[in-house]
Amino acid sequence: MSIQARVLQHIRQQHEISQSELRIQTGLSASAISSAVRRVQSIGLIQEVGSLQEAMGRPRTLLSLNADYAYTVGVQLNVQQSHIVLSNLCGKVVHRAQFSHSSHIPTQIAEDVARFIAEVGGHRIVGIGLAVSGIIDAERGVCLDSATTVGWQDVPIGPVVAERTGIPTSVENDANALALAELLFGAAKHDNSFIVVTLGTGIGAGIIIDRKLYRGRNGIAGEIGHISVSAPSSYTCSCGKTDCLEATASSRAIACAVSERLGVPIALEHLRETLHNEPDIAQEVLDHAGTRLGAVLAVLATVFDPDALYVAPEHHINLPAFQLAAATAFQSAVMPLCRTATTLRFLNESEDMWARGAASVAIERFFASAVQTTGGDVARPP
Ligand SMILES: [Zn+2]
Repeated sequence: MSIQARVLQHIRQQHEISQSELRIQTGLSASAISSAVRRVQSIGLIQEVGSLQEAMGRPRTLLSLNADYAYTVGVQLNVQQSHIVLSNLCGKVVHRAQFSHSSHIPTQIAEDVARFIAEVGGHRIVGIGLAVSGIIDAERGVCLDSATTVGWQDVPIGPVVAERTGIPTSVENDANALALAELLFGAAKHDNSFIVVTLGTGIGAGIIIDRKLYRGRNGIAGEIGHISVSAPSSYTCSCGKTDCLEATASSRAIACAVSERLGVPIALEHLRETLHNEPDIAQEVLDHAGTRLGAVLAVLATVFDPDALYVAPEHHINLPAFQLAAATAFQSAVMPLCRTATTLRFLNESEDMWARGAASVAIERFFASAVQTTGGDVARPP
């Protein structure tokens, strides 16, 4: 990594930092720091944001990333309604929209993205990130398998969107994208290694090790929804099995278990209300599902020994009783060593959370490509 890249990385990680703090943190010489800062500043990626006066000596100029230097677009592709945002380089959403679709024709998705870009006009957009549930070849921008969400197999959605918009486009699994957003801008900003478990109609996980996303050999690392956890349930998982975590603790599996006990079908939109009105059934079903979830979380804590585990439940199952059951099972199942080392936290879903995750993927790619070691200079982005 070039000196400029290291300096920029430290400035991104801190809110505001002086050159002398950069020197302490990087171990580089004052002249190397000053020359790197000058170069990155000359293209406008960092800016001076005030000074720090200490009891002795000259005031120290504070530097920060110029968050509005450029923007990225993030798209969360869903079954019926997708979310799209425009984000600055610090993950702040400045525009948002939704688009509905009855089918997922790649060229149509590309048109929807292009229309949004035309509507928000006037911003320097340096990347597009698409997040989709399923197996992704991130290197080629191909959705290998998202049969149950958007009905895709081997769809080169990244190149299709890039060709239509003329903007570099990255594709990522949605749990991975969310983990990246938490690493860069969210709850996990100060963690070195952590896992974000996403809990909805599907269950997945984004794994960050040493501040890098871990995708595994085939891009399926973190597909924890299909770990066998119980006796067969009457709900069939999207993978066809009935004993997976997803067949027990996903929102649809919980709705199915409640429906069975009541003898009437319960739609996801009415799940919270039904659980509220049927406290005995709620207790039994959420306890069962939460206990299975907690056991899997404990396995993750033991295998990866991360700083933290975050669980992001969707609205329908963001319920205290479910969280309590999961946390209790987690605490009793983790090894004594992990009990003090790994914290378990539940994140609250926000409207932009998923699309901002997708935008984060494009932000990360922008910094990786903008800062190159081309003769020691910071390459100017397009
Ligand atoms: Zn499954």
